[in-house]
Amino acid sequence: MANVDDIINGFKNSNCAADNIFFQAVDEVLESIKPIIGEPIYNRHNILERLVSPDREVKFKVTWMDDNQNIQVNTGYRVQFNNALGPYKGGLRFHPSVNSGILKFLGFEQIFKNSLTGLPIGGGKGGSDFNPKGKSDFEVMKFCSAFMTELHKYIGPRIDVPAGDIGVGAREIGYLFGEYKKITSAYEGVLTGKPFMFGGSLMRPEATGYGVVYFADEMLKYANKADFKDRICSVSGSGNVAIHTIEKLYQLGAKPVTCSDSKGTIYDQRGIALDTLKDIKLNRRASLEEYAKTHTDAIYTKVEDYPDGGHEVWQIPVECAFPCATQNELNEVDAKTLIENGVQMVTEGANMPSTPKAITLFQNNDVIFSPAKAANAGGVAVSEFEMSQNASMSKWTYEKADERLEQTMRSICKRVHLTAKDYGVDGNYVDGANIAGFKRVADAMIAEGI
Ligand code: NDP
Repeated sequence: MANVDDIINGFKNSNCAADNIFFQAVDEVLESIKPIIGEPIYNRHNILERLVSPDREVKFKVTWMDDNQNIQVNTGYRVQFNNALGPYKGGLRFHPSVNSGILKFLGFEQIFKNSLTGLPIGGGKGGSDFNPKGKSDFEVMKFCSAFMTELHKYIGPRIDVPAGDIGVGAREIGYLFGEYKKITSAYEGVLTGKPFMFGGSLMRPEATGYGVVYFADEMLKYANKADFKDRICSVSGSGNVAIHTIEKLYQLGAKPVTCSDSKGTIYDQRGIALDTLKDIKLNRRASLEEYAKTHTDAIYTKVEDYPDGGHEVWQIPVECAFPCATQNELNEVDAKTLIENGVQMVTEGANMPSTPKAITLFQNNDVIFSPAKAANAGGVAVSEFEMSQNASMSKWTYEKADERLEQTMRSICKRVHLTAKDYGVDGNYVDGANIAGFKRVADAMIAEGI
């Protein structure tokens, strides 16, 4: 039987550079679950070795024609990691950086996230190196159709139910759903994040960002700290998760003062103007540089002018920080700056945005820290609500979906908090999330046999 050290060493000796990010995720989880993994039952069933290998990885060619009649070729992927608790469930990412290592990291994290929700969903992830930026709607549609021509063979409402992620929003999900329907003649809930008019759940666009803030609010209560009223917060990113994190922070009385994109950062001391941000990013799909043109008090810093080794968005003194852009976007240098500036809480909205060294610094300096797999589970939870509405041909109201989201996030926080306490690491949400997430999946794997 392989133990934690065998597995970590095996990964370290691997030559596949693309897999480094996957090893980072595995390493973090295995270190955390050391207190529980020694239990003879997990060893006897060789759970560790079974858990770190995906059930299936599918890689395929996607050929499509652009507006200039040129034939383009991209690569598509679906990683079906673990379905002990339910159908594989996890987003599709369209971004030039996508490769099998990134998708294995995201799929692996998804197993624990989905387990923490308490809902019947397994873990998976997929996507393509296709870049939707700068493409016409027609080109995005052609790509989505070509992608689904292959993907449809591996998915189904009881098999694997993809959703959105970076570069995949309601527009892309709509095109993917349309093509699936055309190929299979089945009108079924095979994707979540669909527009409301054909089976989407109200609240799905808001779910991840709102859920992050509900989770953070609950952590403040456990730490006996004041709520969000008048707290100055920083948020990175300006996509789906960042925008709805900012929106919910405002609703709870906080003042979010930053946002960022891949080209630069905005610092608006008066608070980010949400309508402007939505118009730039959701309607016009433009750069944040536009923000500073209409809000002349705001400061725009380009990526090339960021501080040495760090990111501009974490230079701003705040009480609560919400990294909501992408993986490894908050490093050791950024963590030191945040701590020096008095940050009290960091809640991850993006998947694995903080590097391991940054997390250690937060934990050693009494900063309340929550990992993404717990804090950003709201998106997948509302996706599961969409699956149940599709299966029962029903539609929930916005209020019902929001209420269920809030309950789910507060109960995940409680589960993680109590698990950390039970295992003698009170206040350590990383260990609490990994142990609680692991236990539910491992126990199901044992019950289902090999
Ligand atoms: P979007 O595509 O809507 O937005 C991503 C945002 O991050 C964009 O503003 C993008 O900038 C920015 N960004 C991307 N790369 C960088 C970078 N290297 N530096 C700075 N900014 C960057 O994605 P989402 O909001 O959906 O996803 C954000 C994160 O949240 C991802 O980690 C995703 O996996 C995670 N997540 C998303 C869920 C969801 O429901 N959508 C659910 C759970 C997790 P630009 O506009 O220039 O491209």
